[in-house]
Amino acid sequence: MTMQLSLKDKTAIVTGAASGIGKEIAETYAKAGAKVAIADLNLDAANAVAEAINKAGGRAMGVAMNVTDEAQVNAGCEAVAKAFGPVDILVSNAGIQIVNPIENFAFADWKKLLAIHLDGAFLTTKAVLPGMYAKNGGVVIYMGSVHSHEASKLKSAYVTAKHGLLGLARVLAKEGGPKGVRSHVICPGFVRTPLVEKQIPEQAKELGISENDVIKNVMLKDTVDGEFTTTADIANLALFLAAFPTAALTGQSIIASHGWCMN
Ligand code: NAD
Repeated sequence: MTMQLSLKDKTAIVTGAASGIGKEIAETYAKAGAKVAIADLNLDAANAVAEAINKAGGRAMGVAMNVTDEAQVNAGCEAVAKAFGPVDILVSNAGIQIVNPIENFAFADWKKLLAIHLDGAFLTTKAVLPGMYAKNGGVVIYMGSVHSHEASKLKSAYVTAKHGLLGLARVLAKEGGPKGVRSHVICPGFVRTPLVEKQIPEQAKELGISENDVIKNVMLKDTVDGEFTTTADIANLALFLAAFPTAALTGQSIIASHGWCMN
């Protein structure tokens, strides 16, 4: 079967799509023909992304959604299915970063980060699965990280959460396989989004080095080309996975990190 990178008339929800990686995935999916819901905590920014997609000839809607809030997740997913038809593709992408050594890591920060990454992935998956099972088809993509496979100093909660997503994806692959639903984890290296821009001065302070050294000697040290991974790198991979015609890749994580991690 020759593969076509088309998502014509598919319904997709991308969480955290008002910014960064999620935004570029939403734009890429819309260009490939999908109807895309931009689900984000920041509704104004989500609406702006949706409006730009619609102006460019695509189909998109902004949805207010705190992915840690079960009622908001369920209401948002329902609204999308009503407007665009049953959800075919979920990209669970919303995320934050908090850096601190373990001994200084506030328990409240630990719980907040785990809730956004893990509760968010669980709740959005749970909300779309009945619709996917009903039509025996669906794709769920979790935004992991190289930190799903590697550890870095200062990132205890993030590394724990990103490792955890591998487990959820593997269980979904097994439960969903017989019902036509597959799962994937995308594991980006450092992508220069607001999430990463914020970390550069924070890490410089914590590690006692310059911001330039954080970029060169921490973030990009092990890449093969000294380059950041781009939002386009990740959006193209997300398109490939969503359009892939079979379950051959289900349950797996795919790393896109310019050679930083080759597990
Ligand atoms: P970003 O800060 O540019 O965008 C994150 C978006 O998530 C924002 O629009 C924000 O409003 C939204 N969000 C935050 N909390 C939310 C919540 N509770 N409910 C709904 N939306 C919420 O960040 P990004 O770099 O594009 O990151 C997107 C994902 O990619 C995250 O899961 C992140 O961990 C992952 N990731 C990023 C990098 C990187 O280097 N930037 C690398 C690997 C993985």
